[in-house]
Amino acid sequence: MTDSADLGPREAMEYDVVVVGAGPAGLSAAIRLKQLNPETSVVVVEKGSEVGAHILSGAVIDPVGLDKLLPEWRQAPDRPLVTEVTEDQFYYLGPSGAVPLPNFGMPKLMSNHGNFVGSLGNVCRWLAVQAEALGVEIYPGFAAAEVLYDDKGAVTGIATGDMGIGRDGKPKSGFTRGMELHGKYTLFAEGARGSLTKTLIARFKLDDNSEPQKFGIGIKELWQVDPKKHVPGRVQHSFGWPLDSKTGGGSFLYHLENNQVVVGFVIHLNYTNPYLSPFDEFQRFKHHPLIAPTFEGGKRIAYGARAITEGGYQSVPKLSFPGGALIGCSAGFVNVPRIKGSHNAVLSGMLAAEHLSQALAEGRAHDEPLSYEQAWRGSEIGQDLYKVRNVKPLWSKLGTFAGVILGGIDMHCNEKLGFSLFGTLKHGKPDYATLKPIAESKPIAYPKPDGKLSFDKLSSVFLSSTNHEEDQPIHLMLEDPKVPIEKNLPIFGEPARLYCPAGVYEVVYGDEAAKKDPRFVINAQNCVHCKTCDIKDPAQNINWVTPEGGGGPNYPNM
Ligand SMILES: Cc1cc2nc3c(=O)[nH]c(=O)nc-3n(C[C@H](O)[C@H](O)[C@H](O)COP(=O)(O)OP(=O)(O)OC[C@H]3O[C@@H](n4cnc5c(N)ncnc54)[C@H](O)[C@@H]3O)c2cc1C
Ligand code: SF4
Repeated sequence: MTDSADLGPREAMEYDVVVVGAGPAGLSAAIRLKQLNPETSVVVVEKGSEVGAHILSGAVIDPVGLDKLLPEWRQAPDRPLVTEVTEDQFYYLGPSGAVPLPNFGMPKLMSNHGNFVGSLGNVCRWLAVQAEALGVEIYPGFAAAEVLYDDKGAVTGIATGDMGIGRDGKPKSGFTRGMELHGKYTLFAEGARGSLTKTLIARFKLDDNSEPQKFGIGIKELWQVDPKKHVPGRVQHSFGWPLDSKTGGGSFLYHLENNQVVVGFVIHLNYTNPYLSPFDEFQRFKHHPLIAPTFEGGKRIAYGARAITEGGYQSVPKLSFPGGALIGCSAGFVNVPRIKGSHNAVLSGMLAAEHLSQALAEGRAHDEPLSYEQAWRGSEIGQDLYKVRNVKPLWSKLGTFAGVILGGIDMHCNEKLGFSLFGTLKHGKPDYATLKPIAESKPIAYPKPDGKLSFDKLSSVFLSSTNHEEDQPIHLMLEDPKVPIEKNLPIFGEPARLYCPAGVYEVVYGDEAAKKDPRFVINAQNCVHCKTCDIKDPAQNINWVTPEGGGGPNYPNM
């Protein structure tokens, strides 16, 4: 391994604001900064090969953020959202039946009236065009690999990763040193479980006064369906089967335009059974009699997975630190019962931009934008999250049936009476600490995929168009390489084999029949950047760091 300092100096570029991540949060912040002062210099770096390539969402999108950011978006001929929600259905599933839940019993804040179904990736592609038109510089294919600090400890920007380092850690032919992007302020908009955000939270102790962040893994497919089965704007959610009542999660199924339907499943990562495979739960879910008919005769065209933050209001860390702030899902702004975070991503980007713009106007740099941290709870983001803050803890503590019912009653109380019966509940353990040993757990037998409705992992990853340069250091770093085989395998059956939705982790045996001489294998090139391993590894031994820029999935309209 070559020491970074031996690779030579890095070139540097100076900006007012550096933004890490071209998701809805990062792009909205960049746009708002330019709207407030066209002279502000703003750069956005994005690890995907293009804007949108790493974006995976549902998505039913509440346009409240877009309406505020770009009020004329609905009139734009190339607007990225065209299909309004027309039907909003909820079901509780049993193994062979489904009970519809009446819409009139739902809290009003769960309603999707006025929302749009669409691709968040396409929304980001469109936002990037608007940002560039305002003069924002956007660099896709560049991963922010390192946070830069000054001698007082304030963040001064980021460095992009070096390109052309071999698996052995040495530069290859075509090696290019990363760039330093210096900013008076840096905004981190990396989405759920950002790799740099994680280091900032630890360094500045940003989560000292918040509950642990909670996560889910969302696995999603895009299908082209028979036109006769397509109902543009139909939105369907379910909970219950195939999960047992102690495992939180549920499905989403949205009819977009052009006979395309997305189907996905979110499983809360505080599940306890190490035999559980989120991928296989999703595959068998599609065989349910309520779900299967939509996809029979159709064609699966894309696949992907991504973690989603679920901790809500009480898990939001402190957002500001000297030289920068967290926005969007790096801050954890998802409204869990609504499965929506993109509206708050946009609103938080705007809010942070407004506070940074003020700071820049006052000639400040590299200090802490504390006013943004002080403002979010009173903003519409805080109000959105506060009302639903007990839904996830109730679900985790009481199981699906009682938890969902009490969560619903609690949302009604918050909505109508302005208070919660439960105060603010705690989440308890972080997700990595919830697995039970295999000795105390029941094995789960998953059916074989039929190749029509259900599939295996490798053919699925193929549909994510994931691509990484193979000769590069493994970006899934093990703090202690012995842990998977010596600890995780005997205690938990090495659950990475099952929770990774891309088949990256395997345990192979020198003597397969006798299950002797196990070895832990990491197929890093398959990684779809969902971040689940970084979250769920019971030993917290896997550290997801950015691979070479441009590597990873190449999602179309996900
Ligand atoms: C399965 C699923 C379903 C969902 N459904 C909905 C829904 O229906 N409606 C809704 O509103 N929300 C939904 N959400 C939540 C929504 O997707 C998020 O709230 C939203 O995407 C957050 O936006 P963001 O900009 O903070 O992060 P992201 O959208 O995750 O964008 C982050 C960007 O930063 C880039 N990046 C990360 N790290 C680096 C780095 N170090 N260097 C360079 N680039 C980097 C990533 O590649 C990515 O492009 C869903 C999420 C999931 C996973
Ligand atoms: S290796 Fe980790 S981040 Fe990559 S796909 Fe698997 S679980 Fe997700």
